[in-house]
Amino acid sequence: MLIKKSLHSRISDVDLKNLSFGAELSDHMFYCAYRKGSWQTPKIRPLESLSLSPAASVFHYGQAVFEGMKAYKDENDEVFLFRPQDNIKRLNRSAERLNMPSFPEDIFLEGLSKLVDIDRHWIPQGYGHALYIRPFMIANEPKILASSSREFLFMIICTPVGAYYSQPLRIKIEQEYSRATQGGVGFTKAAGNYASAFYPTRLANEQSYDQVLWTNSPTHDRIEESGTMNAFFRIGDQLITPALSDKILGGVTRKSLIELASHERIEVQERELTVAELVENLEKGLVKEAFGAGTAVVVCPYKIIGYQGKDFSLPQIADDQSFGLRLKNRLMEIQYNRSEDLFGWRKHVRSYVAVS
Ligand SMILES: *Cc1c(COP(=O)(O)O)cnc(C)c1O
Repeated sequence: MLIKKSLHSRISDVDLKNLSFGAELSDHMFYCAYRKGSWQTPKIRPLESLSLSPAASVFHYGQAVFEGMKAYKDENDEVFLFRPQDNIKRLNRSAERLNMPSFPEDIFLEGLSKLVDIDRHWIPQGYGHALYIRPFMIANEPKILASSSREFLFMIICTPVGAYYSQPLRIKIEQEYSRATQGGVGFTKAAGNYASAFYPTRLANEQSYDQVLWTNSPTHDRIEESGTMNAFFRIGDQLITPALSDKILGGVTRKSLIELASHERIEVQERELTVAELVENLEKGLVKEAFGAGTAVVVCPYKIIGYQGKDFSLPQIADDQSFGLRLKNRLMEIQYNRSEDLFGWRKHVRSYVAVS
């Protein structure tokens, strides 16, 4: 791995106490090119803009996948990643589906740790603050022909993020548009999945909803995901989340919350949840809470679920009664090294004496 450090850090230009999500990138990036059937020497180098041919296939055919993860700093400035192996495994599942090469796990983990170490002063101190990490792969062979690229770039960039307090959201059960189809790419973090969600999300926003609760195509009678999060519903004292399929992205947060719930003796069911069952329970007032789960906010509570023009309000639940909040706290205590790592999820990022 070649490491070239920047001579000047831009960090003094950044107000780490007042961050907006993703506005400032850290000083360095990880970079590795794929050519003639193999990955070339991986590099960490000062962040810079890319120079690509306008014919690069990513611009035309959207051959691009990404990941989202975070590095956390504890009270003693020690730095931790959370289940990073899961992210590279998922990135490689996404890549395979988009006919892109897999990236070696060991090089990913080494490059990631070194990058986060070198930019560790970019990780804001404080509970809930973190360095958001964006690994991604794009196809950059310059050719207009609509066939798979044979050249790719794998990169990792980082951005400091503040403690993002999520206001309870208003979500709308989508009845027209779909995010994923059977046999499609819903289980991947393919860039195009997000592009195609922007328009239905804007329409929902215009109807005063924050996010779309995606349902299956073409019948729209089963719940899938909410926005870019996995969805959880508490009906009575059972937590229900749609079972994974090729239409649902298997979130690291989702998986971790399920494991924590069983440890906390909260019953979780991973199963099909029909719109009819959800709406019937909303009508009866039996849905005690509902939330989205993802790396950015861990748990994002919902307050309104809209269905065919009718808005169902979820009850206000006391903090100490909320499953969502309880699981979020347990998860964050592990991420920020405030509790024992019972499940072996943390990865400590050691300080190297870095080469320049
Ligand atoms: C990234 C993502 C999630 C959440 O995954 P995490 O690993 O928990 O961050 C859920 N749904 C979609 C569609 C996503 O893109």
